[in-house]
Amino acid sequence: NTALKCIGQAIGTQVDHGAGQAKQLIGEALKARVEAIDHDVCGVGDEDAFFVADLGEVYRQHLRWKKNLARVKPHYAVKCNPDPQVLRLLAAMDVGFDCASKNEIDMVLKMGVDPSRIIYAQPCKTKSYVRFAAQNHVKQMTFDNADELYKTQQLFPEAELFLRISTDDSASLCRLSQKFGASLDSTMELLELAKKLDLNVVGVAFHVGSGASDPKAFIKAVQDARLVFDQAANLGFNMHTLDVGGGFTGDETFEPMAAVLSESLDAYFPPSVRVIGEPGRYYVSTAFTIACHVIARRTVADATLGTTSYMLYLNDGVYGNFSSIIFDHQNPVPCLLKCGNDVLYDVRRSGYDTPSMVEYSIWGPTCDGIDVISQSCTFPQVIDVGDWLYFENMGAYTKCSATRFNGFTDSHDVVYVCSEPGARALLSL
Ligand code: PLP
Repeated sequence: NTALKCIGQAIGTQVDHGAGQAKQLIGEALKARVEAIDHDVCGVGDEDAFFVADLGEVYRQHLRWKKNLARVKPHYAVKCNPDPQVLRLLAAMDVGFDCASKNEIDMVLKMGVDPSRIIYAQPCKTKSYVRFAAQNHVKQMTFDNADELYKTQQLFPEAELFLRISTDDSASLCRLSQKFGASLDSTMELLELAKKLDLNVVGVAFHVGSGASDPKAFIKAVQDARLVFDQAANLGFNMHTLDVGGGFTGDETFEPMAAVLSESLDAYFPPSVRVIGEPGRYYVSTAFTIACHVIARRTVADATLGTTSYMLYLNDGVYGNFSSIIFDHQNPVPCLLKCGNDVLYDVRRSGYDTPSMVEYSIWGPTCDGIDVISQSCTFPQVIDVGDWLYFENMGAYTKCSATRFNGFTDSHDVVYVCSEPGARALLSL
């Protein structure tokens, strides 16, 4: 198992670093990997882009979640980054899983996770996948329309159903309620149909949009969920679980967002109601750093202005791990990785606007003009073909949506490090 060997090697040479030294640990891993490549003779793919993943960061995010959202049991949204070691760590931390397809359910079950820890959180499901869920006793699933209820009655009448309601997700990066979620004027009708079909509706689910930025969206969604709980009670359902979805970013907005959500939960739902969530990016965004190789460069001389800028071509782009630029509206920030005797890591310094700054645009390796990572960025030094750049915060919605367009690989190595002893103990490393 190469991945595990990778962890073993990274762990074997390190002392306990903790959060403060995580950056240094990641930097050392980036540098070690790049320095091991002989760029003049290496084989095809040896200098491919690669990730460094700090499992300690995932662990820290979990502790932060428990501190700020004690009432909400997280079910990690596998779609965001199905990295096997991340899943393994989350499983060991007793986190549940939000799966959106047969393969995601299969992957989680194969780790030995009990089916009761999985929610099949996809309101519009493929029939054979529903049969698979039924065969494997994955009972919790969401719905938001009448056809799904008929489908469930036919294929899995014992399912524990969550009625997904729409939300105001206008302040989020990726809006989901355009596609999913019943409006409040249709919930009563759906519940009546579920009753008629003798189905078991156990709760309400919502998602305020991925990368949410307005805590008020949670207040409104919790209020709406309360309303639907009351509608269900009037029809004789005994709803017992609220699913508050995902949407949390891992940055400093998490604490205020969590405080608002916790307050609304306590205001509208008694402690007897179980609350679960489906965080994705929150857990992994900051845990992954990607390193890319500068494969080519074009000099752009502007005779009129008397300036010189450069177009840099990397071996990864928007059809690969930078798919997050297109699908997730991200703007990854390039940093120069320096090896040898140079200062390593984080060489982006202050003084960007000094006259000596050099301007670059950064492009991916495919033939398509849309394949651009940064239209304009500056560095205080000249970057050459053969240099390496790295980008932090590349854990969410990146490698999971990479393609093989132009014949490039969609599978890149991950070098695992672990800056938290607690996580290493859980993984028996
Ligand atoms: N749950 C569902 C149903 C989703 O569709 C998504 C993302 O698309 C998530 C959870 C994860 O969202 P996030 O990464 O914003 O936490």
